[in-house]
Amino acid sequence: MDHIHPRRIRYIHVQSWQDLSPHLRRIVFHSTELADYPFQCTGAHVKLFFPRPGQSKPVLPQLTDRGPVWPDQADKPFSRSYTLRHYNPHQQTISIDFAMHPHQGPAARFAQQVTTGQTLAISAPGGPVPMLKPADRYIMVGDLTALPAIDAMLEDMPATASGDLFLWLPQPADLPTLPRPARLKLHPFFGSLNQIPMIISAVCALPAPAMEHFIWLAGEASLVMPLRQQARDVWQMPLARCYAVPYWHHGENEEHYHALRHAFIDS
Ligand SMILES: Cc1cc2nc3c(=O)[nH]c(=O)nc-3n(C[C@H](O)[C@H](O)[C@H](O)COP(=O)(O)OP(=O)(O)OC[C@H]3O[C@@H](n4cnc5c(N)ncnc54)[C@H](O)[C@@H]3O)c2cc1C
Repeated sequence: MDHIHPRRIRYIHVQSWQDLSPHLRRIVFHSTELADYPFQCTGAHVKLFFPRPGQSKPVLPQLTDRGPVWPDQADKPFSRSYTLRHYNPHQQTISIDFAMHPHQGPAARFAQQVTTGQTLAISAPGGPVPMLKPADRYIMVGDLTALPAIDAMLEDMPATASGDLFLWLPQPADLPTLPRPARLKLHPFFGSLNQIPMIISAVCALPAPAMEHFIWLAGEASLVMPLRQQARDVWQMPLARCYAVPYWHHGENEEHYHALRHAFIDS
């Protein structure tokens, strides 16, 4: 039953990769199993599964009514959330853009040492569909890990859209040439975590958005959390008009941060 379930976890194999900038690496995965991948939109959330040390590929779970289950916990792969950047059903490929950060983690290590043919596993996509809500004004804030989703949303944005896009990136060479509506103003910030207070001040100084505008916040937790408070408590934006997901937290790996992220999202 697991083999034909449309939302099954699938094996994928590294086909190629390309450095989009000094700190962002696009990896293209191929698998004949992607032919029936339940794709809905780019920018979707996916889980990638990385093998444990000594394994050549991650052990797949049993798919149950309670979700994926690994009967032997020692086999459970490392799981990390990523953004589905491209899906091509004809070529049976998926592209994921990896932030190349200097800290040790299974995903960063994989991206740094990537070789052709390596095997990971991927979940079916999740997250809001579509990621970009229709609006005539947007406030978007993100770091390098949010760039793949922002890039995908800009592709879908009408030319008439307006607003402000705040990007926090390691260095100017990481700023892509994002085709964007003429009235969506770009505010780039470069450098380390010390940029965060300046970004927060700049966002909070914007004119308050209207209820039908759309706010999208993702990236390091200390960037996202105070801005969600600004959006929800100060600007009183409705939940449906405010996406706010802390993608990672400085100094904490995903094993520790996962539950905290969900507690924040649910709060
Ligand atoms: C919905 C969602 C979508 C995401 N999409 C993407 C995406 O498309 N591309 C992407 O690169 N990331 C994305 N992320 C973030 C990614 O899941 C985390 O960065 C993840 O922690 C990386 O795993 P790791 O194994 O490299 O590090 P972990 O083992 O989780 O952490 C090890 C150490 O590295 C630090 N660390 C983790 N990430 C970063 C970082 N980006 N910069 C600096 N230090 C870091 C941690 O604080 C920790 O100290 C997304 C997260 C979510 C929740």
